[in-house]
Amino acid sequence: MADIDDFRAETRSWLEENCPAGARGPGPISTGATTIAIDHEDTELWLDRMIEKGWTAPVWPKEYGGGGLDTNQYMTLIQEMRRIDARTPLGGMGVSLIGPTLLEYGTDEQKVRHIPRIVRGEVAWCQGYSEPGSGSDLASLRTRAEDKGDHFVVNGQKIWTSGAQYADWIFALVRTDPDVPKHEGISFVLMDMHQDGITVRPIRLISGESPFCETFFDNAIARKDDLVGELNKGWTVGKRLLQHERGSMASLVGGGAVKDTGPVLEDEAKMFSGEANGRIADAAIRDRILSHNMNSHVFHLTQRRTVEEASDGSTPGPATSIFKMYGTELQQERSSLFVEIRGTQGLGWTGDEFTGRSLMDTRGWLSNRAASIYSGSNEIQRNIIAKRVLGLPD
Ligand SMILES: Cc1cc2nc3c(=O)[nH]c(=O)nc-3n(C[C@H](O)[C@H](O)[C@H](O)COP(=O)(O)OP(=O)(O)OC[C@H]3O[C@@H](n4cnc5c(N)ncnc54)[C@H](O)[C@@H]3O)c2cc1C
Repeated sequence: MADIDDFRAETRSWLEENCPAGARGPGPISTGATTIAIDHEDTELWLDRMIEKGWTAPVWPKEYGGGGLDTNQYMTLIQEMRRIDARTPLGGMGVSLIGPTLLEYGTDEQKVRHIPRIVRGEVAWCQGYSEPGSGSDLASLRTRAEDKGDHFVVNGQKIWTSGAQYADWIFALVRTDPDVPKHEGISFVLMDMHQDGITVRPIRLISGESPFCETFFDNAIARKDDLVGELNKGWTVGKRLLQHERGSMASLVGGGAVKDTGPVLEDEAKMFSGEANGRIADAAIRDRILSHNMNSHVFHLTQRRTVEEASDGSTPGPATSIFKMYGTELQQERSSLFVEIRGTQGLGWTGDEFTGRSLMDTRGWLSNRAASIYSGSNEIQRNIIAKRVLGLPD
């Protein structure tokens, strides 16, 4: 216990000294993209300092540039960062998805080649799973990879590839054997996006933004030494990556550390629907908020317990589906409550008549709709929970 108290004291003073004011509170987070300049001095300084410390990937082995922290130390670090509202120094699919997967399934050579660059935020990754016609039924994917000796030649198309227009590398599921049952002919490969055989077309949304893309492979090259796991055993690797994705969405990877927005919700409800005897005046709203806050609290306690039980800091297996499903549904309920309690003030898109918080929540309310779709829809999570967690028959 004394050790962890010492660690907390050292961490607290290091963070106080090294986390610049502009890296505290909301603001930009580096995703490691070489093609996007962050252009925010404090964010860059914070990233550099955390890289130096190994804390862009606090639990990863020191030999690859990580922090080598155990679960207890990691949770302490997260708590101390929250205490001063320090932003995470590095986000993106490198640290959250492909990095942990490579640490489990990669060869030593792959780890040496890819992990330190991820830790240092030098490379942005994207995820090539979904295809037109293969979303929930992902194993039906048709992008082909033909074995050409020291490399594969890849042909086909992916869709909804988030951030592909900025990515340096892609991890993708490809079909390497079309003549066996669908789950058994899939391999997991890494490809350099900066090659002639890959074309990215951003998908323009009604908002004018293009958060995701169509990605075309036309005789693209995947090096043989970028095959992760065994040939035709990519489904296992791909599923594990999804567990990291779901774990990270549910903040399991962040040590179960989630900001408690319950009090803000209550204050806003009092402000907009009135206050009676120190309570929210509208009984129906009061009941809904109370029930939401209780469920949130129980959910956060369950997150914390799950993180603490994994003594090596690893992401749980199929149980991540429970956290993904319940966490995203709570998130959607919370956003809806924020919008509802504000009435007409809750639907502002731009303009000085709305508060910054209300504008942010309107956008959150709309973008949260996607959270029950990506990383496998919540209906699919229910199927996984039924089969893989509860052991119910097909
Ligand atoms: C914001 C966003 C970002 C994304 N980013 C990426 C990315 O970076 N890379 C990537 O590869 N993909 C990405 N996706 C794609 C995402 O993984 C798919 O949208 C998701 O898996 C669902 O597939 P689909 O859209 O083809 O829907 P479908 O599979 O066509 O499903 C349609 C509906 O049917 C339901 N359904 C389907 N099958 C079943 C079943 N067996 N039982 C019960 N219900 C079922 C689904 O739940 C859904 O409601 C992203 C999606 C979104 C929304």
